[in-house]
Amino acid sequence: MKTRNVIIIGGGISAHTAAVYTARADLSPLVLSGRGLDQLSQTSDVENYPGFPEGILGPDLISNAKKQAQKFGAEYIGDDVTGFKKVSGGYKLTTAKETYLGKTVIISSGASARKLGIPGEDTFFGRGVSTCATCDAPFFKDKKVVIVGGGDSAMEETMALYKFASEIHLVHRRDSFRASKIMQKRVLESKDKITIHYETETLEVLGDKFVSGVKIKDAAGESTLDCDGMFLAIGHIPNTAFLKGAVKLDNQGYIAVDGVKTSLPGVYAAGDVMDPHYRQAITSAGTGCMSALEAEKYLELLE
Ligand SMILES: Cc1cc2nc3c(=O)[nH]c(=O)nc-3n(C[C@H](O)[C@H](O)[C@H](O)COP(=O)(O)OP(=O)(O)OC[C@H]3O[C@@H](n4cnc5c(N)ncnc54)[C@H](O)[C@@H]3O)c2cc1C
Repeated sequence: MKTRNVIIIGGGISAHTAAVYTARADLSPLVLSGRGLDQLSQTSDVENYPGFPEGILGPDLISNAKKQAQKFGAEYIGDDVTGFKKVSGGYKLTTAKETYLGKTVIISSGASARKLGIPGEDTFFGRGVSTCATCDAPFFKDKKVVIVGGGDSAMEETMALYKFASEIHLVHRRDSFRASKIMQKRVLESKDKITIHYETETLEVLGDKFVSGVKIKDAAGESTLDCDGMFLAIGHIPNTAFLKGAVKLDNQGYIAVDGVKTSLPGVYAAGDVMDPHYRQAITSAGTGCMSALEAEKYLELLE
């Protein structure tokens, strides 16, 4: 079993940031970066990451961050971690090919937005379909949008878009919202731009190069809402299944943290896997940095 000072799980911005810091601190981190794409690699323009006045493409931001970590000596292996266990001397991490022992571990495995699984949703992802209004709302200035969902995050996305969009259709499959009363109130009071469609199914995203409409079905039958964008606000799934109960999770499945400290000594969590609230590139990078500094301190105390 190969022993490392620090093993970082994930290949997104939080993992690369933790890798830059731990590599620069001479800790020779190993990054088990997973087989899938991180979230920024699946988007186009990022306009709110400081340091890029003209914005930067998500995939460029990610490849730059990875190069920066590699420059300082971080080692990357593109495998998924499938097993995680506390053992003597640290934590045993298993992939399909190898087993590693990490004296400290930084979990940066991110989260995935829930999707509806309807035709057109993947085709138009990034071309009108989005899962992040905080990130993408300004691109929809004076445009018509459909938002799907009925919980707090749907209300938040609606209010984030309210400032920009000319018309908002909030589509929910049930006859009432699940969101807290206070969140609902703000949406229900903003009737000038918002039309609510209760007990309505979303059937298909329509378009040519970009989204041009969303096909819906309610008691009256099928119809099309003409729009320029569709925002999915039906929740996120944190990527924590591989931990199999080894680390304490909160009631939504996110890693429970105190700052970036998990329930296990020497194990830290960074980015969307521990953050149901902000879910931004900069906050993910921030907690990646915090985790790295905590891991460094922990290793110093071990010695
Ligand atoms: C369409 C879209 C647009 C966005 N636009 C913006 C924006 O403009 N500005 C902004 O600030 N934020 C934006 N965000 C949010 C931002 O992308 C995320 O907050 C941030 O990228 C989260 O980074 P992360 O490192 O926590 O995780 P992720 O980016 O989710 O990466 C997780 C990584 O972990 C890997 N992984 C998962 N499981 C395992 C495993 N078992 N073993 C090993 N690796 C594993 C995955 O393969 C992936 O590489 C956007 C998100 C989306 C989806």
